[in-house]
Amino acid sequence: MEINSQTELYCLIGNPVNKSLSPTIHNYLFNKEEENAVYMAFNIEKEDLKSVVNSFKAINVKGFNVTIPYKIDIINFVDELSYESELIGAVNTVKIDNGKLIGYNTDGLGFLKAFKEKSISLKGKNVLILGAGGAAQSISLTVVNEGVKSLTILNRTISKSRELIEKIKNKFPKIETNYGGLNEKYVDLKKIDVLINCTSVGMYPEVDKMPIEINGFNKNIIVYDIIYKPLETKLIKSAKEKGMITIGGLDMLIYQALLSDEIWLDRKLEIEKMKNEIKKRILSENIEVI
Ligand code: NAP
Repeated sequence: MEINSQTELYCLIGNPVNKSLSPTIHNYLFNKEEENAVYMAFNIEKEDLKSVVNSFKAINVKGFNVTIPYKIDIINFVDELSYESELIGAVNTVKIDNGKLIGYNTDGLGFLKAFKEKSISLKGKNVLILGAGGAAQSISLTVVNEGVKSLTILNRTISKSRELIEKIKNKFPKIETNYGGLNEKYVDLKKIDVLINCTSVGMYPEVDKMPIEINGFNKNIIVYDIIYKPLETKLIKSAKEKGMITIGGLDMLIYQALLSDEIWLDRKLEIEKMKNEIKKRILSENIEVI
């Protein structure tokens, strides 16, 4: 693509971002869609967040992604929040529309899109989430919003699983909940329909670790591990060996990016097709996913 005076700029801000996959995904899409646009990643310091956002407005940046550690801080600088970003309490996508900043969150929707690809609904399911960090927050609120029957959150630091459950109870008082430490003893494994790993246990380089033993679960559960490095974690491998339905983290990662593009470009894209193309490219070219 030729960059010229009409080229529109989209960005990623966070710290660190130097190994992010986002520029690869967005620039691939802009090329495919013949958009005269380019996507760049910027590592920024917390004290510069306000001036960076103001500069984006001044130079007419059309939109930007926000990643760790600014997904909550950025809320102070947006004029409006989407339903999902308000629900989750964090923003990963901002659209700048005539100087007005609108905050969105595509993390939960990206998670759901990969889930729904398997033609399974979360409605009425008993869900177990491992972890209570940033990703667990987006995903727990998203799955509860889908009408699950019950939600259990287990986390190494129990106080964080309790706090997250309290937050969920505040928004969804009728949901059946349970919480505990990262241990099978806190939950009746046979009752669980969907297991979601939102901890970083099993992530590279500690690829031989599993956040929980899966022997006690029913064979017909769905095991979703949002870790994407490695592409297939030990948890996913073990679940596959037992014949369980599995979902890895790469689809979510690509989907949340493509959903940002739909927001910025203000039109529906063929995102399933695009996701598969990008995934194929990452796998065939051995692109490092961090
Ligand atoms: P985070 O906010 O730092 O949370 C990390 C979570 O992992 C916490 O619950 C933490 O428990 C737990 N944990 C870390 N080390 C542990 C250990 N040794 N033993 C037990 N628990 C441990 O991180 P995050 O942003 O939520 O990300 C979590 C994982 O999801 C990462 O692997 C990340 O790459 C992945 N992720 C994937 C996507 C995607 O698109 N697929 C998106 C976001 C994140 P404590 O509270 O006890 O510390």
